[in-house]
Amino acid sequence: MTQILGIDLGTTNSLCALFESGQPQLIRNAHNQVLTPSVVGVLPDGQVVVGAPANELRITQPDRCGACFKRYMGTDRKLQLADKTFSAVELSSLVLRSLKQDAEAHVGRTLSDAVITVPAYFNDNQRKATKMAGELAGLHVRRIINEPTAAALTYGFHDREAEKKLIVIDLGGGTFDVTVMEIFEGTLEIISTAGESFLGGEDFTDRLTAAVLRQLGLQLETAELKQPLRVARLRQECERVKRELLTQAAGKVRVPHENGELNDNCQRVKLTREQFAKLSGKLMQRITAPIDKALRDASCDLDEIEDVILVGGATRMPLIREFVETYFRKKPICDLNPDEVVALGAAVQSALIDDDRAVDDMVMTDVCPFTLGVEVAKQFGNQIMEGYYTPVIHRNTTIPVSREEQFSTLRSNQTEIEIRIYQGESRKVKDNLCLGELTVTGIPPSAEPTPFLCRFTYDINGILEVEAYLPSTGQKVSTVLTQHARSLSDHELEEAVERMQQIKFYPRDQVENQNLLLFVERVVGEVNPMHRQQLEEAIDGFEAAMASGDREVFQSMRDHLLLMLSQLGFVYNEDQDVIDHD
Ligand code: AMP
Repeated sequence: MTQILGIDLGTTNSLCALFESGQPQLIRNAHNQVLTPSVVGVLPDGQVVVGAPANELRITQPDRCGACFKRYMGTDRKLQLADKTFSAVELSSLVLRSLKQDAEAHVGRTLSDAVITVPAYFNDNQRKATKMAGELAGLHVRRIINEPTAAALTYGFHDREAEKKLIVIDLGGGTFDVTVMEIFEGTLEIISTAGESFLGGEDFTDRLTAAVLRQLGLQLETAELKQPLRVARLRQECERVKRELLTQAAGKVRVPHENGELNDNCQRVKLTREQFAKLSGKLMQRITAPIDKALRDASCDLDEIEDVILVGGATRMPLIREFVETYFRKKPICDLNPDEVVALGAAVQSALIDDDRAVDDMVMTDVCPFTLGVEVAKQFGNQIMEGYYTPVIHRNTTIPVSREEQFSTLRSNQTEIEIRIYQGESRKVKDNLCLGELTVTGIPPSAEPTPFLCRFTYDINGILEVEAYLPSTGQKVSTVLTQHARSLSDHELEEAVERMQQIKFYPRDQVENQNLLLFVERVVGEVNPMHRQQLEEAIDGFEAAMASGDREVFQSMRDHLLLMLSQLGFVYNEDQDVIDHD
């Protein structure tokens, strides 16, 4: 058995899991955490850190770090980290490589295969980019599966006797997916999926950050350029308060000084749950449309839905929970940790691929979440109008699927035709997403329009292939070329993998210390000046002990530093999400 890694490559956090002893199990990283922040940082010596230390570095040196790059998957956008330039695919590959190393440290051998999850609403370019990121990390990507489907697999794995319709509402850091499905006799059938690729918990934090900046007479975009350290630190404060609103009716955002420093003189802005709800009004409006669409596509009434399952860290917001409860008139199910359920489902999918006996009674079917088609011209009287869209595969068709449509040339003696492939629901192609084009050449000249066939094949990974051919000759004309994330030749791929492998990670057994160092370097500017000297001495001692290689000295200096931090009112926790000032 190969043992395939199940990976949830998230906008804000990533996780990996393995199917072990008949169960999906989450893997802990070098910080003994299951959540690895999807953040990459380049240290001054050029080494790369991923996860918690990169998150820490982001607060003081945002120009050295990349975060939320999942939002740019499938685009040509580049991110500058110090003096290095990366694509979103490359940064994602570094996160994947770090997860792979964690899993390898856990099992004690090399792991080469993976199942990676993507938002159901990820388009073809974004899926191909994700697969490419896996390959750059040295992983053979056995399957790309939709995040809500993975979540449903986890629920299905634990509740195999169930017979019901359910809806999964998945609000992660950057994406929103809604999936209606049915479970019966161990079969999980996805009926419909809808969503938005640019809506997630990070947008709620942005709203909050922008509102605080407005009170200072600043716009988020300009402040980000002019005072990046201040905005980075303020964002972290807003994230903290956003989370506090889970258990408290109000919280206080400390506003950093222009240089990003936070200390006792900082202004404080109070934020209540009601104010947060008001600021999030427009985002909440966008939540409703995909839910309505998924239910409509599934021809499903609200009362047919037995369970509402919440997935993704942002569904913890009371705002979302209250909305869901009112909308469905029932309490949502949150039995499993919303951060973990997708990675666990990826491991269940791995077990399905591996024919593991523990899942031999489970079957899963998925759908294509959006309509796929081609651009056509229409004739109105004697006028030919271009730019119309004809679907070939309709949204929510069960996959894998292969469909063929016949089209014909427009003009007599036309020997070449360009077929443009689109994804979307609008009548006009300008409102849909162009995935690529292919050119049919060598059409025999003819006075009459020549028919040709277009075959769309959408596989279980959600990746599209298009072929066109003339029925008269049967000769296949071309295959699809996507606009972005073009498939690389074997040679190009080898070169890209090689280039990425040359990037050196900060040694895994030391990342925890690196993280602590980055943390103390940040808070040293926040302590009362009376205690600064003391803290600096403890930091120096810790750094010297790290260099000495003497384990005993090192441990005692580390304990001393941690004790001092806590005496000064700073709680250091390896999980970046809970680092804070008392
Ligand atoms: P995910 O990509 O599923 O890990 O979700 C991450 C998103 O969940 C981020 O935008 C977080 O801000 C958000 N999140 C996590 N925990 C909470 C919480 N307690 N309250 C509000 N948002 C949260």
